[in-house]
Amino acid sequence: MSEMIREDGRKYNELRPIKIEAGVLERADGSAYLEVGGNKILVAVYGPRESYIRRLLEPNTGVIRCRYNMAPFSVDDRKRPGPDRRSSEISKITADALRPALMLENYPRSMVDVFIEVIEAEGGTRCAGITAASVALVDAGIPMKDIVVGCAAGKVNDEIVLDLSEVEDKEGQADVPIAMMPRTGEITLLQSDGDLTEEEFNKALDLAMEGCRQVNEIQKAALMEKYSTE
Ligand code: UDP
Repeated sequence: MSEMIREDGRKYNELRPIKIEAGVLERADGSAYLEVGGNKILVAVYGPRESYIRRLLEPNTGVIRCRYNMAPFSVDDRKRPGPDRRSSEISKITADALRPALMLENYPRSMVDVFIEVIEAEGGTRCAGITAASVALVDAGIPMKDIVVGCAAGKVNDEIVLDLSEVEDKEGQADVPIAMMPRTGEITLLQSDGDLTEEEFNKALDLAMEGCRQVNEIQKAALMEKYSTE
């Protein structure tokens, strides 16, 4: 495998430095704070609680809603506040990535709200948001089959590399963000942006799955840290 060193000094299969803290907010039912590279992300979970939006109510199951939001000051060029096409897409795919892990059938007519606030962004925020949201859902005490974890791989300078930074995302040739449930290996998010051969795609998928397993260890450590000291 390649010995190439990346613009930030990482090897092809190396994650950016990552830290996760569970239970950082008092008012939320569950919460988490995550940093990976230059990303800083805060997640608050509310629920399960009675659905206050009647049209979203399901008689036989609970419903998860996600809102991904980037702060105006989270990127170099000020981001216009409020939802846009990108944040609506990420909100939807995040809910879709998390839903398979949640045992929402235990909570008919209820709603779980997940708020993902990107305070600083540096590439890979959708995966980092999913990783942090999953920790916040566990912190909220919602029964889950597994912890969902997100990680991306991509192609930069003709090499398949793990966990693209913002520069690598912008200057690179492809980005493959995934989310998975590590116990079963079930993939709950798979996107692909850019050009990859079938061989490159398979390589990126394997690398992203390996990245997910590493990030999952950090998720578990964050939950152990919170719940073994209380
Ligand atoms: N970004 C930005 N302004 C925007 C949206 C994104 O500067 O309005 C940056 C940000 O650092 C983000 C990166 O571009 O993390 C890559 O964005 P992308 O849409 O690929 O999503 P992400 O990789 O964050 O999941």
